[in-house]
Amino acid sequence: MNDFEYRLAATTTEAQQQFSSSRRSSYVAGGTNLIDLLKYNLADADLLVDINQTQATSIEELAGGGVRISALMTNADTAYHPLIEKRYPLLSKAILAGASAQIRNMATNGGNLLQRTRCYYFYDAASPCNKRNPGSGCPALTGQNRMMAILGASGHCIAVFPSDMCVALAALEAVILTNGPAGERMVKFGDFHRLPGEHPELDNILQPGEIITAIELPGEGFAANYSYLKIRDRSSYAFALVSVATAFELENGIIKKARIALGGVAHKPWRVNEAEGNLIGKAVNKDTLGAAADMILKGAIGLEHNSFKIELAKRAIIRNGLTALKPELQLPGAQPADTSML
Ligand SMILES: Cc1cc2nc3c(=O)[nH]c(=O)nc-3n(C[C@H](O)[C@H](O)[C@H](O)COP(=O)(O)OP(=O)(O)OC[C@H]3O[C@@H](n4cnc5c(N)ncnc54)[C@H](O)[C@@H]3O)c2cc1C
Repeated sequence: MNDFEYRLAATTTEAQQQFSSSRRSSYVAGGTNLIDLLKYNLADADLLVDINQTQATSIEELAGGGVRISALMTNADTAYHPLIEKRYPLLSKAILAGASAQIRNMATNGGNLLQRTRCYYFYDAASPCNKRNPGSGCPALTGQNRMMAILGASGHCIAVFPSDMCVALAALEAVILTNGPAGERMVKFGDFHRLPGEHPELDNILQPGEIITAIELPGEGFAANYSYLKIRDRSSYAFALVSVATAFELENGIIKKARIALGGVAHKPWRVNEAEGNLIGKAVNKDTLGAAADMILKGAIGLEHNSFKIELAKRAIIRNGLTALKPELQLPGAQPADTSML
C-alpha cells in the first residue's frame, strides 16, 4: 500500500479544488471499496479527499412525487428510511441483499454506484487485466470464469458489475445527479454504467473530479408488486451469480407496466425494453415470464464455467416475476414464492 495524504473537504467546491491539486487524487466516502483497492495495490492515490461532510445526508420529497436521496447517505440508512421502505421497497430489499450489516453501515450510495468489479483477475495484482492495466490481456476469457458475464461482454473484458442496489435503481429508472468541472448534470441510470467494449478500464461515464451528489427516483415505486431475488453461493456476504429486480403495475391482474433488471450477468445492470414492452397487456405467469426471459437473454454467451448462468437467469426471472405478485412472500423468514407454477 502506498502512502497517501488525507484531507477532509467541507464543500463540493472545496473537494473539487483539493482533487485537482494532485494528478493521483481520489475521493473517499465510506472507504469500503477504495481502501481495499489501495491495500491490494489495485488503486494508486497520493491524496484522498474525504467528501463525507460536503452535504447533508438526507432524503427529500420532490414536487413531482419522487424523492432525492443524498449520494453520501449510507446504504443502511437508505434501506431503512421509512419513505424508501414504504414507497420503494424494491430498493430497500436490494440494498439489504448486499454485503453485510457492518459494511452497509459504512458504504454510501454514491460509492455503491462506483464500486469496482469483483473479477478474481482484477483483484490479483500479479495477473494481467485489461480493466486494471489496459492492453495487458484478460485471463478470465480462458480461465476461471464462473462468476463472469454472459451478456454485453467484449474480447477485452468479461467482468460483471457486482452491485445489488444498482439493479433496483435500474428497474426504478433512477436519475444520477452530479457536479463536476463542467457543471451539474443529470444522467439517466441506464446511461451511467458502460459496457466494456474496447475500454474496460472505464466503468461509467463519470469524468475525473466529478462528484455524484444525489440519486433521484421517480414517483412510481411499484410498492404493490415487486421482488428482488439474489442467487449466490452463500446466503449472506456473497456477490450475486444472478440477481433480478422485478416490478409490475397491474390492473385486474393484467400488466400495465413491467420492469425487469438483471444483476451479476453483465458489466452493468441489464434491461431489455422490448421484453418489458412485450409483457404489457398480459397476465403474469410462467409462460409470459419465460417469453420475456428469452428476449432478455437473447445473445447470451456462456464460457467454459459460466454457461449455467443462462438457464439460471431464465429461472430466476420466472420465479421472481411470480413472487412479485405476492411481495410479502420475500420478507425475511417467509417461505419462497409458490414454486408449483414453475
Ligand atoms: C466484503 C464486501 C462484500 C460486499 N458485498 C456486496 C454485495 O453483495 N452487493 C453490493 O452491492 N455491494 C457489496 N459490497 C460493495 C459495497 O457495497 C461497496 O464497497 C460500497 O457501496 C462502496 O461505498 P463506499 O462509500 O464505501 O465507497 P468508497 O470505497 O469510499 O469509494 C468507492 C469509489 O467511489 C468513489 N466515490 C465514492 N463516493 C463518491 C461520490 N459521491 N462521487 C464521486 N466519487 C465517489 C471513490 O473515489 C472510489 O473510487 C461489498 C463490499 C465488501 C468490502
